[in-house]
Amino acid sequence: MAGNGKAAAGGVVVPEIKYTKLFINGEFVDAVSGKTFETRDPRTGDVLAHVAEAGKADVDLAVKAARDAFEHGKWPRMSGYERGRIMNKLADLVDQHTEELAALDGADAGKLLLLGKIIDVPAATQMLRYYAGAADKIHGDVLRVSGKYQGYTLKEPIGVVGVIIPWNFPTMMFFLKVSPALAAGCTVVVKPAEQTPLSALYYAHLAKLAGVPDGVINVVPGFGHTAGAAITSHMDVDSVAFTGSTEIGRLIMESAARSNLKTVSLELGGKSPLIVFDDADVDMAVNLSRLAIFFNKGEVCVAGSRVYVQEGIYDEFVKKAVEAAQSWKVGDPFDVTTNMGPQVDKEQFEKVLKYIEHGKSEGATLLTGGKPAAEKGYYIEPTIFVDVTDDMKIAQEEIFGPVMSLMKFKTVDEVIEKANCTKYGLAAGIVTKSLDIVNRVSRSVRAGTVWVNCYFAFDPDAPFGGYKMSGFGRDQGLAAMDKYLQVKSVITAL
Ligand code: NAD
Repeated sequence: MAGNGKAAAGGVVVPEIKYTKLFINGEFVDAVSGKTFETRDPRTGDVLAHVAEAGKADVDLAVKAARDAFEHGKWPRMSGYERGRIMNKLADLVDQHTEELAALDGADAGKLLLLGKIIDVPAATQMLRYYAGAADKIHGDVLRVSGKYQGYTLKEPIGVVGVIIPWNFPTMMFFLKVSPALAAGCTVVVKPAEQTPLSALYYAHLAKLAGVPDGVINVVPGFGHTAGAAITSHMDVDSVAFTGSTEIGRLIMESAARSNLKTVSLELGGKSPLIVFDDADVDMAVNLSRLAIFFNKGEVCVAGSRVYVQEGIYDEFVKKAVEAAQSWKVGDPFDVTTNMGPQVDKEQFEKVLKYIEHGKSEGATLLTGGKPAAEKGYYIEPTIFVDVTDDMKIAQEEIFGPVMSLMKFKTVDEVIEKANCTKYGLAAGIVTKSLDIVNRVSRSVRAGTVWVNCYFAFDPDAPFGGYKMSGFGRDQGLAAMDKYLQVKSVITAL
């Protein structure tokens, strides 16, 4: 049984939930207001836990703790090696609790338990270890200063970082931001998504066990317009690292501009194209396209939601893609034979179904799926539309659900134009054997990541982020450390 869970009504396994309070200055505490909010299990719609709800007063306390830890505490002052050692210890502890953590995200977000165990949690600890290794390699440059001077640069931690993250990968998002911030010597105030607050609180507990000093990591679950806005408008937060929708990204920039001009990095939405050329192995391309859109129930910022297939293989591709979608098993994410769990919550479930209705009313042809897949819970069938045109809502807007729009193209130039025809620019996929096509398309597509004959290949060393309205700034890679560092020039008269 997963994570010491117990079987609840209807046979679903519910993990034990240990941490539901705010984590401020090394302690689990109630909200100042005493308020809590419900987090629900998308498999049933039932309440999973009541979690302390942070408001402005709690964010103030968390920022104060982070500021004190930054100005007076050990973390920014200890050697990078020592910070890295503690981060590695945290990674070991997370690894030891993989089963429980995957179960928490499984019940909170509807994510597959198996994938949590083999992808989400291991990827998070890989990220932590990558940046633990970088913590003692932060150095500046010697400057060529003319005249009777010598100069060098120092890289210093930026200060208190507000981390605001979405619900689709609660574990990975937490460590994607927190790992480089910690390595740099920053302190953080993390606001997990209101739909999925549970694993972040568990990580705060493990960080304390690993030896991260009090005040360095604070976790304040709550809503965006209250707790989130209190972070972005706070005069004592130096930087905000955000992942979420383009719409909220814009609000965050406005709030940063109106308050203390804090720096922001924005990882936002996407509408990524997967382009399949005539020379592709059709079976391999169909499998890739299925993964690209139905993995994690389409709740992936880089989901391959627009699939462009060249005319020579289009008919065969469509037939096989429909068969592949119909064999993608929807069900309880704790069942190892399930391929796709429920959408994260009722709002997301209804939003996806509404997009499906838009697709039909705009004239696209629904080939498979399009309906709820169960009577209870937020399950939706894997859905495929054809006869989609680039101007339709389902081809332009981020659905964030298991809905594939399949489109036909003739030439390389034509598909490059189509691939670039949305406001987003997060990722793209290309399936072909031609090196010439790979080179042309990967250089012409305006996206932060291009996958060739693969999809979702992530590595901590590969910078990740968006072009256009998919945001700016990069997560992952050594360069991501720069978001959490200031550069100081020191010039000395000889
Ligand atoms: P969202 O923008 O609604 O919420 C994201 C976070 O912002 C949540 O924690 C939320 O509480 C908070 N928030 C909401 N309003 C706020 C406000 N006014 N001030 C401060 N914080 C506020 O996004 P979501 O629905 O949680 O996640 C889905 C979106 O995230 C999709 O658009 C998806 O593409 C995007 N996403 C992007 C990436 C990426 O790396 N580019 C990765 C995952 C998800």
